[in-house]
Amino acid sequence: MEGEETPPSPRPHQLSPSAWNRYETCPRMYWLSRQKLPRKAGMAASLGTAVHASIEDLLNMDLSGRDDAETGWVPLEGERFLKERWEEEKAVFMATPRRPAWKEDKWGEAKKQQRGGVVLLLDHLGARDLPHENITIALWKRLQRLTIAVEGELKTSDGRLMGRLDLLLTDVDSKGNTTGWLVADLKTGNAPKKELKTDVNRQLRMYRDILLANNPSAPPVRTEGWYTKTTSKWEASGPNVLEDAYDAWEATQPTTLPMSAQPGPDTCGGFCDWKAWCPHWWTWRQSNGTLHKDDFSDAVVLLHRYDETSGTAVLELCEPLDETGRAIPTGQQTTASFDGRGKEALEELLMTGHQGPIFIGSVMTARRSWRIGHWCDVLAWQPLPDDEAYDSSN
Ligand code: SF4
Repeated sequence: MEGEETPPSPRPHQLSPSAWNRYETCPRMYWLSRQKLPRKAGMAASLGTAVHASIEDLLNMDLSGRDDAETGWVPLEGERFLKERWEEEKAVFMATPRRPAWKEDKWGEAKKQQRGGVVLLLDHLGARDLPHENITIALWKRLQRLTIAVEGELKTSDGRLMGRLDLLLTDVDSKGNTTGWLVADLKTGNAPKKELKTDVNRQLRMYRDILLANNPSAPPVRTEGWYTKTTSKWEASGPNVLEDAYDAWEATQPTTLPMSAQPGPDTCGGFCDWKAWCPHWWTWRQSNGTLHKDDFSDAVVLLHRYDETSGTAVLELCEPLDETGRAIPTGQQTTASFDGRGKEALEELLMTGHQGPIFIGSVMTARRSWRIGHWCDVLAWQPLPDDEAYDSSN
């Protein structure tokens, strides 16, 4: 009928290696990450994105018309690109309501990590130790000729599995003949000591195997994690992961009911950004007697008094009634001091008119008075019960 518009079809379900890893860690964590809940910005992630993007900028430079013998330009251009990307990331970070403090003093580390990335690229040319001010235009052009793709999307032909690869390079022998392809993933986190962690290994093999599935006549493909902090390269090896990835794709299809929770020391005890919406870390800690016992603890509290000028407060600790995460006040009170971003986050929450339980992540409990600083989450406590359907399109 004229004028009638077909509604856009919903985006088909896709699985990336990071979503797969999240699902393997804790299905509830994966499920919560897809519910359009407020995302948390992080300094390490922003630094990593800026470093990645600046290295890609260097590789994508148009060097036509430049003198092949010119040197001294990599440190200058590298810093200029990094500064641009740093400011971009900072703007995104500061516009994210759920964020810690921006650490400008990490700039030096970002520069160091970018230099580490350049060392890793030079290593691919057999020139690892070349001082960066001595890199010529000719040498960088050679690197560009070996670069098949920079920051490319990989997707299986059915669109179900996807990933973003940082670098696809040609491997050559000493005579310059192609011997294969190398998928290199730049990593700005801590390097492994003995071998790649299982999840990183699986991520890299997924890139490799999607690439091979899409390019049946490809030469041999190897894949490495490139760690800019230590300028070390770690090979990922092992069998094809696509069958397992398709099983994970099936298991991760969107559901309105929350997926199963897997509370434990390696899941809730590690990093999970979704605790304000998950009752299970809380009941798990309560049942094993570790609630509020660590120097940095998560807590659900009621705010009894708050002095905006000094940031001091009186909190009442809560305990879970049951698996729904309903908060029961315990009568146990503690004084607390909110400062920096922790203070701002509390005041932003109070401005919304919030009353009732508050989730505080990583509160410092070691002193007599609790300390809630820039590293803490301060959010309304809104656990999503296991048996209630949740419509994430709202
Ligand atoms: S808090 Fe624990 S159980 Fe809940 S989603 Fe996070 S890791 Fe999973």
